[in-house]
Amino acid sequence: MSHQHTADVVIVGAGAAGLACAAQIIRRSARRVLVLEARDCIGGRCDTRFHPELPAPMELGAEFIHGASRPVLSLLKKSGGTVVQAKQSRWTGAAGNLSPRADLLPEITRAMRKFAATLKRDIPFEEFLVHTLGQALPSAAIAQARLRVQGYDAADPLRISAREVVTEWTSGGGADGVVSRPAGGYHALLRFLADQLTAPRARVQLATQVKTVTWRRGNVEIGGLVHGRPFRANARQAVITLPVGVLKQPQRAAGAVRFMPALAQKRAALKHIDAGAVVKLVLRFRHAFWETLGEGRYRDAAFLRSPHPAFATFWTTFPLRAPLLVAWCGGPPAARLSTQPAATMIDLALQSLESLFGHHAGIREQFLGCDLHDWLNDPYCLGAYSSLAAGGQGAREQLAKPLRETLFFAGEATDLAGESATVGGALRSGVRAAREVIAS
Ligand SMILES: Cc1cc2nc3c(=O)[nH]c(=O)nc-3n(C[C@H](O)[C@H](O)[C@H](O)COP(=O)(O)OP(=O)(O)OC[C@H]3O[C@@H](n4cnc5c(N)ncnc54)[C@H](O)[C@@H]3O)c2cc1C
Repeated sequence: MSHQHTADVVIVGAGAAGLACAAQIIRRSARRVLVLEARDCIGGRCDTRFHPELPAPMELGAEFIHGASRPVLSLLKKSGGTVVQAKQSRWTGAAGNLSPRADLLPEITRAMRKFAATLKRDIPFEEFLVHTLGQALPSAAIAQARLRVQGYDAADPLRISAREVVTEWTSGGGADGVVSRPAGGYHALLRFLADQLTAPRARVQLATQVKTVTWRRGNVEIGGLVHGRPFRANARQAVITLPVGVLKQPQRAAGAVRFMPALAQKRAALKHIDAGAVVKLVLRFRHAFWETLGEGRYRDAAFLRSPHPAFATFWTTFPLRAPLLVAWCGGPPAARLSTQPAATMIDLALQSLESLFGHHAGIREQFLGCDLHDWLNDPYCLGAYSSLAAGGQGAREQLAKPLRETLFFAGEATDLAGESATVGGALRSGVRAAREVIAS
């Protein structure tokens, strides 16, 4: 039996962008909204898990609030949520001998400001780093900048736009040296939005994989599977919040969403927007063993840098105290790592911790288990978050542009206010697309 549904606006995807878009349309217009989500839960790349014995949530996707993100902070306030903040104490070293790590970012951004004007033509960040910033920065700062592009932007330094990195790193709006997270995790924030989407005006339909979008001005027909059975929906307009990894798939690929007619207008833009690679493991231990090592010196550690090549970056849940460590790898090394089985990745993370704390720390005896979400191979994501390739100026604007007042586009990659690749950017793009729908 095939199901038939009708709404004014169909929204594809119930992540931050899709939910923010739906909530805004409901609030500001009389249109009826149907949100279609392939997974059996809302949230997309906000994937918060709870363990009954742990005081801190485990975030398998988004975790931090970057800078002073207005969309996130304002949604937190509306939902009655709060922010957990801590000073970023950073440690580095090997074999249990750690020392506080100097943050070279201020020095890097000073050099970037000094040489930004030389970027008359956009080039890959690696070229700018070696040939220009290299004149002013010591090798340790060059290495940190390269690692940050991979780890923080999840990007390939040989591809990402130097202009984009310079703009992003020199315009940081957050409190210096402080990390912030939504208390209770990102999922609660998105749940608050989803709870506003109630009948008769709105509905979120889970376990619905959209496979085809057939469109002409004023009419969209969606075809797909709900719980594996055929499904169709009709609407006057649709908002597409698919991640770039999904949009970049060849139309003939097994998991691709087929647009008819094809989105020829978006092809050039998508060539310049990359879906970055990240491997994030949440490791659980019997005790927060690092709190008692080195006579308690690392008790308030927030970030730890390991000399091991597989996972260079770890962080704790500080200021919440929980026996959890997050292992993080980004950029091309993460793409290579993600071809390995989970057991190999976990073993490499434990090896990285042993390089950092030494074998006497008994890390393997302390280890209880690991939670992870493989975003790179997840067919509904195919990447962690977006970055702009050199020469791609204008690509995000192009991707965001509505087509014939019928198809609208949202999602972190379409944020135009400097917050792409984040939850804040996704929320803002959803509200922007809702305004476009309402104005059309
Ligand atoms: C490991 C990791 C760590 C991160 N850390 C941070 C962080 O600390 N801070 C931060 O601000 N951001 C972080 N991000 C980025 C942030 O999670 C994203 O930018 C944001 O959540 C994207 O929201 P979105 O709505 O654009 O996309 P998504 O959340 O991906 O939503 C798109 C939705 O579309 C659905 N979908 C896909 N295909 C189909 C289909 N065929 N049919 C129907 N539905 C479909 C997906 O299931 C998904 O729910 C992180 C991301 C990752 C992966």
